[in-house]
Amino acid sequence: MTSSVTVRVPGKVNLQLSVGPLRDDGYHDLVNVFHAVSLFDEVTAVEAATLTVRVEGDSAGLVPLDGDNLAIRAARALAARAGRPYGAELVIRKSIPVAGGMAGGSADAAAALVACDRLWGLGLTQRDLLDIAADLGSDVPFALLGGTAVGTGRGEMLTPLPVRGTFFWVFALADGGLSTPQVYGECDRLREAAGERACWPALSDQLAAALRDGDAPGLGKSLVNDLQPAAIMLRRSLARTLQVGRDRGALGALVSGSGPTCAFLAESAEHALDLSVALKSACRAVVSGYGPVPGAVVV
Ligand code: ATP
Repeated sequence: MTSSVTVRVPGKVNLQLSVGPLRDDGYHDLVNVFHAVSLFDEVTAVEAATLTVRVEGDSAGLVPLDGDNLAIRAARALAARAGRPYGAELVIRKSIPVAGGMAGGSADAAAALVACDRLWGLGLTQRDLLDIAADLGSDVPFALLGGTAVGTGRGEMLTPLPVRGTFFWVFALADGGLSTPQVYGECDRLREAAGERACWPALSDQLAAALRDGDAPGLGKSLVNDLQPAAIMLRRSLARTLQVGRDRGALGALVSGSGPTCAFLAESAEHALDLSVALKSACRAVVSGYGPVPGAVVV
């Protein structure tokens, strides 16, 4: 029997995040184009009698170690589904920025589902895992699938999108995180103050075509994030970070999800290097990567 299983899982950037009106249940209807990028966390599930978690990496101190940890919540949900009080020690090696708008917690939850399913020999189908994932949070199903996909509803109803080739990205990581609920709240507040009514969101045809054609300049022009003004309002320095990347010829520049990570689309791997150098003085750290990449996989 397997005594440990390691799963590698990517972070995401939102290529389109269109936020519709606030619903009665407190969520917004979204059109959310997720793109999995090569910033990976690794989650190892080791045989143990009880469920515990340990986190390694520079930002380990920012991640809860109790029942609030999304990887623990995922393992619990899976054990409940199997109807047995399974245990495991989950070891998370974090590279995805914490509270950075790249869905690192959701990625760890997805990885824990895949790792524990294998460790406990449950053999659930991807459909089963996607169902459990959707109950854990809107971004968790995508971390299982990876690639590029459009999410509707709260973002959890996913349709994969065809993509040609690979896109090169640079990420400017900020000091500290931003709270996702706070950013949505600020978005509502800004809209109300401006007397703006949120429209019903739809997938951008221009974005879908650019992805299908592997057209990086077209993709750069169609990147959109309705949460960006709110994230900038809460963290003014992001406006400057974005400008530094644009001045250095980024094909597109936007706040990733609820921020504060900023994502820059480069023309090539060399241009990504050039952007990385320019951005170093405008943020805490710079990481480059590419997408799309697959979702949670056993390594
Ligand atoms: P999203 O883009 O999905 O809104 P995010 O990338 O901004 O999320 P996360 O890194 O997922 O943010 O973390 C959000 C909060 O979740 C953190 O403040 C942290 O306290 C909590 N959290 C719980 N489990 C984890 C985990 N395994 N890794 C990171 N954060 C976690």
